[in-house]
Parts: sequence; structure tokens; C-alpha cells
Amino acid sequence: MSQNQDLLNSKAICTVCGSDSTRFYIETNAMMHPENTESYRFFSCDNCSSKFLSNPVKESDLAQYYTESYLPYRGSSAWGKFSKFVEWDDQKLNQSRRKVIQPYIPESSQIQILDVGCGKPDFLAEVAKDDQFNCTGVDFVEADWENEKYKTIDLKACDWKHSEWAQKFHIITAWHYLEHDYSIKETVAKFQDLLLPGGYLIIEVPMFEGVLLKLQKQFWQGWHSPRHLNLFSKKSWGMIFNSDNWSVIQHHQFGTLSAFTLWWLGFRQKSTTNWSGSMERYFWSLVLFKILLAPFFLFEKVIPFGIQTVIIQKNR
Ligand SMILES: [Zn+2]
Repeated sequence: MSQNQDLLNSKAICTVCGSDSTRFYIETNAMMHPENTESYRFFSCDNCSSKFLSNPVKESDLAQYYTESYLPYRGSSAWGKFSKFVEWDDQKLNQSRRKVIQPYIPESSQIQILDVGCGKPDFLAEVAKDDQFNCTGVDFVEADWENEKYKTIDLKACDWKHSEWAQKFHIITAWHYLEHDYSIKETVAKFQDLLLPGGYLIIEVPMFEGVLLKLQKQFWQGWHSPRHLNLFSKKSWGMIFNSDNWSVIQHHQFGTLSAFTLWWLGFRQKSTTNWSGSMERYFWSLVLFKILLAPFFLFEKVIPFGIQTVIIQKNR
């Protein structure tokens, strides 16, 4: 049997809804990684329409994909003399995330908020400027956590799903976390356990149902293989968060991450890019594209590009 036929016939269980009615969808290489011929196969689910990685690497082997080539870990320093622009962009991002949570803040003198997969906790630092918030962040590893600017945030380095928590939360945020998750079912149960009744869950993830996947195909940065395992369809949210316990109250076909940035990363993925080198050399071409494509990306809240935000409330 040819390899292609083999792919078409093989079965994989949907990581989002658990259905075994799935089919091969697209093949990618390891992305934002030194040039390679590694093969990652995403399948499509007939039941919930989500796409998922059928051959993930073991969670314990993931560290080899979080190296110098992985830009988010290097942060603004990857941009050398242009790092100030990137810091400024980052600040705008965290301010817009702060705006997203605004309508869901309860009337309470002390609000508990948890950010899952907080990384460098700059979003929480933005939230903590308002002292009615008690901010907690969790991630597997520490990232510059000793920095003075994070001193009012309670930070935990652990596998949050298997740890004990002293408090419950009014709001849980997960910015680009859920697409990396190895067990959605367990995660939803933990969200259920940690949220107060009536509390809100704010999730931002890539969205394959958009223009960028159509344009960029296997280079679309939403795949981000092998780090991303789950690409959620719009329909899947109501299936994962069942109506007995949850209400999906908002779904936006945009997010706080800029659609232009997502496009540009895919464009660099398709071109030869030394991800571990200095990004300085790409700075001016990035600026040029940003200007040229501005009329197109101006409509990022109207045209679905490739990012989605979903607001889910835990039933009272
Ligand atoms: Zn499914």
C-alpha cells in the first residue's frame, strides 16, 4: 500500500471530542525549528470538524522544540537593536488583553484571576496595576519570574492540572494555551473545579476556519507542529463545554494576537529563515509588509483571518 493510501485509511481519535470518525487532512514539518523533514499529520474530525495532530511527540520529549529557534521564548531580545519596538508591541498586546476581560469582572472588592500558561506574566502585571485583583499565574517553567515587576503576582511552576489550589477563581484566562493541551477532557474538568459558579473562562486560540490557512496551507502558523495538537472548530466549543455545566456566551473570529503577525510568521516559515539567529535582518522587510498589507489587515475584526476568542461561563 502506498504511503498516501495508508494515511487515508488510518484512523485516529479526535483529541477535541473523542470521535473515531476522522480522516487525514494535512502534513507539515516541524515549524519554527531548524530545517527538517519531520512529518506531522493533522487529521480532521467528521463529528466536530476540529483538526488535530495524529502523531504528537511525547510530552516529555517536547523540550527539544523549545530551543533558541522558538521565538516566543527569546522574546524581544531576538530583535537586537529593534527590541524596543517589540517590547512596545507586547505592551499593546497586554493592554488589549486587559480590555477583553473588562466586561466579565464581577462586582467584588477582591477578584481572583488565574492565567493558565502565563509564561512571562506581563498580562497579569497589567491586570495587577488595579489592586482589586489577586493575580495567579501558572506555567510548567519559570520565565523571568524574579523580576521586580512581577512581585505582586502569585506564580506557580507546576503541572497545574495535578496540583492543589487553595482558592477558586472569578476569571480564568488561557491565551494560546489550549491548542498545546494533551488532555482537553481533564483540562475542562479542572476549569470546572477551579472556577467559582458564574465565573468566566476566556480562551484565545488559532482558528483554521479563516483566510490565512487558505492562503498559507502547510505553512500556516496555527499548525505550529509539533507544539500544537488541537485546532478547534467554532462548532466544537459547545461540544467540549456541555450545556449542563457551561454556557458559551461569546465567540469572536479575531483575537488580541495580530493577524498580521500570524501571517508574517507563516510567510517566514515558507521562506528560508534562520529562526535561531538574530531577527534584526528581517525587521525592515516586516515593517514594509506591515505598511503594504495594512489596508487588508485593517479588517481583522471583520474578516476571519485565523484567530478566535471564546468566552465561556460556568453555570451557577
Ligand atoms: Zn472531534
